[in-house]
Amino acid sequence: MIQRTLVLLKPDAVQRQLVGRIIERFEWVGLKIVGMKMVWADKEFAKKHYAEHVGKPFYKFLEEMITEGPVVAMVLEGVDAVPVVRKIVGSTEPSKALPGTIRGDFAMHSYEHADSKKSAVKNLVHASDSEESAKREISIWFSSSELFEYSTVHEKHVF
Ligand code: ADP
Ligand code: MG
Repeated sequence: MIQRTLVLLKPDAVQRQLVGRIIERFEWVGLKIVGMKMVWADKEFAKKHYAEHVGKPFYKFLEEMITEGPVVAMVLEGVDAVPVVRKIVGSTEPSKALPGTIRGDFAMHSYEHADSKKSAVKNLVHASDSEESAKREISIWFSSSELFEYSTVHEKHVF
């Protein structure tokens, strides 16, 4: 099934200048970028995006992390894009994320280390976790005029 999903290259990814190397991973498998922009979120916007985490013990650190600098926001489209992107991104805790995933290859933070530093887990990327959250998140980050339909060569050979 063709799906769309929201991906954010979080401030740690932008500041570590990993934007190109991360986007490349998604292009490798044939996912299509249908929307992309740089955004510096404020606290109010962070609460909307991370609504499910507001009130959790780590929320304060999560809000500080996601608002500390600009993010690169994008919408990716492809076959089963929501689970495929989560697979490419890897599990939440980079110290446990498998090699070959973005979090496993470019980060090493753990929950325990983040707690000791009073910070959010630095794991570079946000990716929607279900089709339902993808729809909600895409609608808050992108207007319909910022999303595009076009054909790639992958639609002939990979889709
Ligand atoms: P994911 O980003 O893999 O979907 P979650 O939705 O559970 O993970 O959490 C959102 C983000 O909050 C994580 O990517 C991470 O940056 C941060 N985070 C999650 N759990 C913790 C925690 N226990 N301590 C610090 N930061 C956390
Ligand atoms: Mg999540």
